[in-house]
Amino acid sequence: MGMFDYVHIYVKCPVCGHKLKTFQTKSLENMLEHYKVGDTVNADRIHAYTSCPFCHSFIDIEIKVENGKITDGYDVISVKRSWIVEILKKIGKRVTLTLYVGTSSGWKNVISLDLNNHEAIAVYNVLKKSFPRSPYYRKRNVPAVKGFQAI
Ligand SMILES: [Zn+2]
Repeated sequence: MGMFDYVHIYVKCPVCGHKLKTFQTKSLENMLEHYKVGDTVNADRIHAYTSCPFCHSFIDIEIKVENGKITDGYDVISVKRSWIVEILKKIGKRVTLTLYVGTSSGWKNVISLDLNNHEAIAVYNVLKKSFPRSPYYRKRNVPAVKGFQAI
C-alpha cells in the first residue's frame, strides 16, 4: 500500500520564483504512481503539495482536471514560508553574511558578503550541502544564520 502519488507539473514557487516540478498528492490512487499533464485520472481536481527545493517553503496547490485529464492549470491554495525566508524578511532586503574560522579561543573573520535575500538563501543551501551533518543545520533554528545582520 502506498501513501500518495506524484504529479509532475510546472509551478513557479510563489515565494522565490523557483521552478517546481514534482508534487505529492493523496487525491488519486495512493500507490506511488507518477502522473503528468494529459494523463487520465479519476478525480475532478487534484490537491497536491511540495516543499520548494530552493527556499524550502511549503506550497499547496489544486490542479485542474478537464474531461478526465490532468491540465497544466492550477490554483495556489496555501503557502507556508520557510524559517529562512521569514528570518530574511524580518532582516530586510539586504543582509551581510560574515564567515569566520577558528575555535572558541579565537575567531577570524574570513570574508563578509553583502547579499540580497535570494543570494543569502543560495549561500545557505551551498553551506547546508557542504556540511550536511553539522549540528548548525540539524537544529532548524537560528545558528545557521547567525552571521546575517541587518544593514
Ligand atoms: Zn521557493
